[in-house]
Amino acid sequence: MADSKKTPARPALKAVRGTRDLLPDQTPLWNHVESTARALFARYGFGEIRTPIFESTDLFARGVGEETDIVSKEMFTWEDRARAASEKAQQLTLRPENTAGVVRAYIEHKLGETGQLQKLYYIGPQFRRERPQRGRYRQFWQIGAEVIGPQSSGSESPLRDAEILEMLASLLTELGIRDWRLELNSVGSTEDRIRYNQALREALAPIKHLLCEDNQRRAETNPLRVLDSKDEADQDLINALPKIADYLSDDSRAHFTQLLAALDACNVPYNLNPRLVRGLDYYTRTTFEFTATTGQASGLGTQNALLGGGRYDGLSEMLGGPRAPGIGFAIGEDRLILTLQAQQEADATTSGTTLAAPKLDAYIAPLTPTQNPAALALAQELRTAGLTVEVGDGTFKLRKSFDIADTLARHIILFGEDEVATNILTLKTFATGEQVKVAHANLIAALKA
Ligand code: AMP
Repeated sequence: MADSKKTPARPALKAVRGTRDLLPDQTPLWNHVESTARALFARYGFGEIRTPIFESTDLFARGVGEETDIVSKEMFTWEDRARAASEKAQQLTLRPENTAGVVRAYIEHKLGETGQLQKLYYIGPQFRRERPQRGRYRQFWQIGAEVIGPQSSGSESPLRDAEILEMLASLLTELGIRDWRLELNSVGSTEDRIRYNQALREALAPIKHLLCEDNQRRAETNPLRVLDSKDEADQDLINALPKIADYLSDDSRAHFTQLLAALDACNVPYNLNPRLVRGLDYYTRTTFEFTATTGQASGLGTQNALLGGGRYDGLSEMLGGPRAPGIGFAIGEDRLILTLQAQQEADATTSGTTLAAPKLDAYIAPLTPTQNPAALALAQELRTAGLTVEVGDGTFKLRKSFDIADTLARHIILFGEDEVATNILTLKTFATGEQVKVAHANLIAALKA
């Protein structure tokens, strides 16, 4: 029988764990954040750079650091087999962050030879195989920027650090993020860090066995990372470890002092946090993080770091390029959006309002299929005039057209045989319930009123 031959129902495919779809009720906020950032970056002289989403694995191994969690555990890497004898097989990786790619591009296109300071920003997806949770995804978006150039361009100046931090404070304020907090530290020059790492190793040796397993491993491979640890039981021991501030050279200390003076002059508030070393190997001197206030209000819970960054004076050389000091940041766009959504919801609850999507200007209801072509032509005319318009279908019952129009639009335009013949349309405004006849020639003005 035909029925017994039915193919079994196939399970519906879903987005891969840690990835998600952004539907049209969400994307307006994403676009608003991105256009606000683009306009603000332009005011500070930044230009956009778009680098590939995958790069050679070696770029991240060298640029981010083999011992970091990102490179050792979280990258999506594959062997890209050669298709032709002339092509070599390659290890490729979906970018887990964008700074390494930007610095590679800086070197590859010899941007340093212009002698100018390069101010570059990017907006795009990044990929890390982390355990997904609210505010932590395997594909997530970052909005970031880098200021990089030869020393003669002033790229090493603490003023650049202060300008970046002031720009970020302005961006968060302009977006309406309330109660952000800037955590700030200096991890010193590469030489300072070597001395500090040694001091940490020595201090960790006698207490290592008391720490959690992860921290025991970090104490061996990358002692600075112990300072990042959130393990509750280890906190007292970690707080008692030597502080980087005591290992800064005079140069590094002076750089940090000048940065703080410039922030004070711009009234940007900050909290000094000696444990802020951040996860990536390339940071030197200034490191920073902006957090949303913890808990319910931010919508983020424990994933409350909105953005992070720092100086990377040796990164270009690590990637085989010329000396090119730089500083940059990456904003977690997903987290910024979650924070803004949580704020909007809280505001709506307090004020008793609802978050309604903006309505279209008009819904055109052809009354029979005969009017369909003319209805579409009318929609074309109104849209060309800049109005937002939806067209129904002549097979719809009038009741159905009214129901759809009422949810979608501010007005309904009834378009039947009479209307086509007389060129006089029936226009109803939902807010007032008023229904009027409007000459076709006056329709645009009536809708814009
Ligand atoms: P990082 O590149 O690790 O310095 O991260 C910069 C910012 O990106 C963080 O402060 C987060 O806001 C965001 N971020 C990092 N990893 C993720 C992730 N897996 N999911 C969502 N946002 C992330």
